[in-house]
Amino acid sequence: MDTAFYERRLREELAALAAASEDGKDARSPVILDQQSVGRLSRMDALQQQAMAVATEERRRIRMLALRAALERVAAGAFGDCVRCGEKISVKRLDLDPTIATCIACARATVE
Ligand SMILES: [Zn+2]
Repeated sequence: MDTAFYERRLREELAALAAASEDGKDARSPVILDQQSVGRLSRMDALQQQAMAVATEERRRIRMLALRAALERVAAGAFGDCVRCGEKISVKRLDLDPTIATCIACARATVE
């Protein structure tokens, strides 16, 4: 298996998310409510947008944890091995998402 290919994908996605997280900093900062300059509706808009930015960051943070965990498996020489049973994870599964840590059988067993 071409681990280097997956490692590159993982690193690229992690870098892109880190950059997006940095870009979104201002949007996530607490809304300063200025009664004079903005109307009630625009304040509600601002609060809603800030809440959405916080939720986006939360999803991003969870994805970044999965990416870092996958990179740790690369470093440990265990990338592509199921973390539950140790069997090889299919390339099809890894192509879909290189952060997937279990083989299909273990994934199914978890759902049931
Ligand atoms: Zn397994």
